Amino acid sequence: MAKKNRNLWDDEDEVETPVLHCWLCARPIGAVTIWHHPIPKSRGGRDQVPVHPICNKTIHANFTNSDLEKRYSTAEALLAHEAIKRFVDWIANKPLDFDAPTKKR
Ligand SMILES: [Zn+2]
Repeated sequence: MAKKNRNLWDDEDEVETPVLHCWLCARPIGAVTIWHHPIPKSRGGRDQVPVHPICNKTIHANFTNSDLEKRYSTAEALLAHEAIKRFVDWIANKPLDFDAPTKKR
């Protein structure tokens, strides 16, 4: 008898994997989860939230760590920002793993 693989992803029981939702765009996370620090790690932030790679790139392309710490440490603040609002509207109907080069500000 082959030794049973105890790999999490190979369990025979139907276990419902909790689906992470992106902190920024609220869509389910795809194949890759990026853990974003709403308050930058370099500024002492310890909380982490799941985001898509492209959402993480967009946040960091639009804001400096100083901006993030002082004004944009909540999803509400980010979503009130014009560029982020436009991005979230745009990404809403893209595949979950959609990625694209992000223009630097
Ligand atoms: Zn996202």
